[in-house]
Amino acid sequence: MTKGKLLYEGKAKKVFETEDPSLLIVSYKDDATAFNGEKKGTIVGKGVVNNRTSNLLMHYLEKKGVPTHFVEELNDRETVVKRVEIVPLEVIVRNISAGSFAHRYGTAEGIVFDTPTLEFSYKNDALGDPLINEYHIIALKLATREELDTIRDYAFRVDKELQAFWSARGITLVDFKLEFGRLADGTVILADEISPDTCRLWDSKTQKKLDKDRFRRDLGGVEEAYLEILDRVTAKDAE
Ligand code: C5P
Repeated sequence: MTKGKLLYEGKAKKVFETEDPSLLIVSYKDDATAFNGEKKGTIVGKGVVNNRTSNLLMHYLEKKGVPTHFVEELNDRETVVKRVEIVPLEVIVRNISAGSFAHRYGTAEGIVFDTPTLEFSYKNDALGDPLINEYHIIALKLATREELDTIRDYAFRVDKELQAFWSARGITLVDFKLEFGRLADGTVILADEISPDTCRLWDSKTQKKLDKDRFRRDLGGVEEAYLEILDRVTAKDAE
């Protein structure tokens, strides 16, 4: 598999074409941004942690029956994925109050919900990724009713499986963001990444934050937290 033309460069990743039109190569960078690009920085080694973490989690989810774009890890930072048309939604599942939820509703962080919640944001940098409901998603033709049903079902399955995965590694899955894409035949699969950039992960014993909130909130120990996640994710004896 060889890297062809650079198709897209985002905040944390580059995406390249390959000789196979149905496959792409994703290359993970150490660049970090927060607050819709207002805060910028570098987290040394983040690209390696996110590439390996995301691949392991996608592989795990695939075994549990959630179709993903993961094909093959090429090296520390690069992975072959299936080409999809991204559904322009951020699909956010929460188990515990934190981040924008706590801010929006004026609650403390750390309140455990009786059942997980689901929300969508419209992926649109110019608009600042606004919250969007299912009627508006359909009105704007961002996804069909059937696609939304599939996405909701997968999102909650991912939550159930990842809560178990992380819990076996001494980590509480607070919340996370998923993105989905359509294959050429219209099948909806899980795409993008699942990593400390896109999940809130707290140490189950100490509640220490082991995710991008350390960068967002200048908590220090950012690189160490990412490496800690990679250590735990690769702990073979956890299952
Ligand atoms: O900021 P907020 O509380 O809405 O984030 C919820 C979850 O979604 C967090 O795990 C965060 O890391 C993730 N997220 C993301 N990309 C965004 C917004 C949120 O990965 N653009």
